[in-house]
This record gives sequence, C-alpha cells and structure tokens, in this order.
Amino acid sequence: MPPSMTSFSDAALTALDNLADRASNLVNPSVRLGVTGLSRAGKTVFISSLVHNLLHGGRLPMFEPLQSGRISSICLEPQPDDTVPRFQYEDHIKALVEDRVWPDSTRAISELRLTIAYESASTWNRLTGPGRLSIDIVDYPGEWLLDLPLLDQDYDTFSRKTTELARTGVRAELSEEWLQLAATVDADAPADEMRARALAEAFTRYLRACKTDERSLSTLPPGRFLMPGDLDGSPALTFAPLPDLEEKSAIRGSLRAMMERRYEAYKTSVVKPFFREHFARLDRQIVLVDALQAINRGPEAVADLERALTDVLACFRAGRNTFLSSLVTRRVEKVLIAATKADHLHHESHRRLEVLTARLVDRAVKRIGMSGAGIDVIAMAAVRATREGTVKHDGHELPVITGTPIAGETIAGKTFDGNEKTAIFPGDLPENPESFFQHMDADAAGFGNWQKPEVNVVRFRPPHLEQTGEGITLSVPHIRLDRAMQFLFGDRLE
Ligand code: GDP
Repeated sequence: MPPSMTSFSDAALTALDNLADRASNLVNPSVRLGVTGLSRAGKTVFISSLVHNLLHGGRLPMFEPLQSGRISSICLEPQPDDTVPRFQYEDHIKALVEDRVWPDSTRAISELRLTIAYESASTWNRLTGPGRLSIDIVDYPGEWLLDLPLLDQDYDTFSRKTTELARTGVRAELSEEWLQLAATVDADAPADEMRARALAEAFTRYLRACKTDERSLSTLPPGRFLMPGDLDGSPALTFAPLPDLEEKSAIRGSLRAMMERRYEAYKTSVVKPFFREHFARLDRQIVLVDALQAINRGPEAVADLERALTDVLACFRAGRNTFLSSLVTRRVEKVLIAATKADHLHHESHRRLEVLTARLVDRAVKRIGMSGAGIDVIAMAAVRATREGTVKHDGHELPVITGTPIAGETIAGKTFDGNEKTAIFPGDLPENPESFFQHMDADAAGFGNWQKPEVNVVRFRPPHLEQTGEGITLSVPHIRLDRAMQFLFGDRLE
C-alpha cells in the first residue's frame, strides 16, 4: 500500500517541495529572494523601490549587469505560487511616487516575480543563447521568522523564557498588567475560554507596548500575536505563556493543558507550514533592520535588536545537528543585513552606520558560534527622502539634510504641514564602534553612563522625482540600493 501523505516527515515534504522547485528551475531559472525585517523596518519601501529602479532605468552604477549593458529587458510576470498574495507593487509605487506618501506596510506574506533577460558575461555561456532569470521576491514579516525557534521549545520552556525576559529592564514595567493577571490564575483550574482570552489579550498588549516608537524593542514570539496575517481573531492565537509553572505534567482538562495544546497547535498549523512552504525554499535573503532607530532609543533597544538578529541569523546559519538543520535541505546562500533609512544621516555617517551594524552582526554571529560566511552588511536607503547641504553656523560649515517633514511632524517646537521644506542637522553616529559597545554593555549591566548619539530622526515625505533636461522622469532616488542588488542576485546574471 502506498504511504499516505501524512506519513511523510516534514523533512521529506520539504525535500519534495525543493525537488519541484528544481525541476521548474531547469525550464525557467529562478532565484527566490526573501525580504524580511521587523515591522516598519522598510520591507515594502525596499521592494517597491528596487522594482521601480529596475523597471524605470534607475541610477544603479554598482549593479554590474545593468552597468555593463548586458540586460536587454526587465518585466514583471505572474508569480509561480497561486495561493500566495501578490505584492501590490502598482499600489505601493503610486502612493510613493504620485501621492508622495509612504505605502502601507507589510502585514503578511506576499510575492512578486521579476524576470530579467540578459546577455551572459562569459563567452562560453553566451553560446547557449541569451539568459533569462526570474527573481521571485518573497516579502514576509520578520516576526514570523522569529517563531522558528519555537519549533524546538515545549510549552513549559516557552513559558519560562518569555516570563524571564518580561521581568527584565523596561520590559518589567510593560509586562506588569499581564504578569499581575497571570499571577491570579490557577494553572491547574479547569480550562476556561474567557480566562484564556483575557490572558492572551493582556499578553498581546505587552508585546505591542514593547514595539511602540518610544520603546522600539524587538518583538518576541509568537509572531502572529502582532502580525496575525489571516489568523486575526482566530482561536489558534488564544493562548499565552503561564509564569512559574510547577515541574509536572499538565492535569487533563486544566487551563494549563488547554494553553499547552493551543501552543502546540500554533507550532503545527502555523509555524511549520510557513517554514516548509516559504522559508525552506529561499535562496537569498535580505534582512532589513532599523538600527538607527534602536541606536536612538538607547542601550536596551540596541541589545534587543542584537538578540533579535542573533535569533534571525540562527535561522539562516543553523549549526549542524540542530532541529533546523534537520529540516533545511537547501541553505540560503547569501544573507544581506541592511541598516535602512540611511538618508536620515549625512553621507559622512553612512559608513559609521554600516560599521556599527556590522559589529552587531559580528556579535550575533559569535553568539551562535557560526562563521559569517555568505553574510554581508550594508547601510542604505531604499528611498532617499532627503538631500544634503551645508549651512554656516557660528562661522562653521555644518552638514545638513533637507526634506519635507510629513504633516504633523514637530521639530524644535514647530509643527510641519507636509508641504514646507526644512533643513536639519542630522547629528552624528559615534566614530568608534568599540567604545559605543563598551558603553552600551556597561549601561545594560547597570553601571555605565550611556551617551546617546545625537541623531535627529525626522520623518520626511517621499521625494519628488526629478526630471532630466530632456524631460524624462528619473526613478526613485536611493542610497546604495544598487550594491544590495549586486550582492543579492548580480552573480546569477553572469
Ligand atoms: P515594513 O513594515 O517593513 O513593510 O516597513 P515599510 O516599508 O512600510 O516602512 C516603514 C516606514 O519606514 C515607512 O512608512 C517610512 O516612513 C519609513 N521608511 C522605510 N524605508 C525608508 C527609506 O528608505 N527612507 C526613509 N526616509 N524612510 C523610510
């Protein structure tokens, strides 16, 4: 009797998916490019600008295949996966370019296929005729990625870890309501839907509070509590960790047993399918991080970002004999960690942002004990909303950036209307990353004197697109987007 599908292990199913991918790859070569990052990191803006620049002849000097004139055409094509929502490029680019407002952010997974026809750089490959490469861009919330470590944790471990962290630093304050409620609950009492819901809601409020602008803490799993996608309001999300559980098995029919069952169901029906159907099929990956925002918020936000980066990199560079390595049959060959929104800084500080982010990544890589092979770091702005200039102040030339602050943005007591332009002194990042981290570590341990870098992060409107002398509208301006493209798929167009 043939084995039923359900008797296949996850690893076998992933292998089957990969086989199917490989077969279609022979006919139409493609590369699956994952785009992720925590919410508001800049995923939607990145994909929109990348596609617009490729379709509309953007300035991309560091993207070699285009620079050397080997690309003959670039177009959007129907994506290969019919059941995944399409990335609504046209809507997003209209918002960005015509309305000059930032597009709606990523809320769930989506996909877009871009196909490039090119002339190969090598004579040998040219004999086989012009090449075609499809780039399947897969946009997904970083919150979902941070769920992967849950696959290796039982409910008790998940409860313990989550509670421990909730009791540290600023999180202690934010988790107070949830933990107080949880303290009144008897885990062994009979399961009660209303109680489970109250706990899940209080826990979600805590997670949400961590993410607010003033805190900028990186998210904790379960990722769907903040980014539910199509699971919004579903019972699969009606559970929460229970603090201080006794070391024993859950009593049948108890609240603890109910929470445990739902947690396991979350893993089986939410985390695993995402892992298998999407994550395990990626070839290349860009992880966007708003490092500037975290640096601006202080040591706890930076330490938190480092923790999130460690967890993210552990997913891509799983050590041998870990639960992830047993599931992954194809390795993400290249991972680019990109610090976004560099247009908030004067170009003199771009390098510093890159160096600081590289140190964060380095520390994360060391923590998981892996090599950083195939991982690169960049500071960039997918959309450059500012221009640079200098102003004279007390006889000194000061570097400034100019742009149109979004309506309602307040700078030095003045509120902007969304039309008026202004120049600001963007501030500086520390020159020496080592001293930055020394101070940060000391401060996080409670005995430092953290000197917050003086960076002004103003939210500017997207820019007006410029026109050439011949009246041709240029593509979306950016900073180093071409370098990102070259790293992520330039080599596949050789
Ligand atoms: P997502 O949640 O990762 O999809 O984030 P978005 O792409 O929607 O970006 C979130 C917000 O960050 C946007 O609404 C912009 O305000 C800002 N942003 C993103 N990318 C850039 C950039 O390249 N430059 C500037 N100045 N702001 C950006």
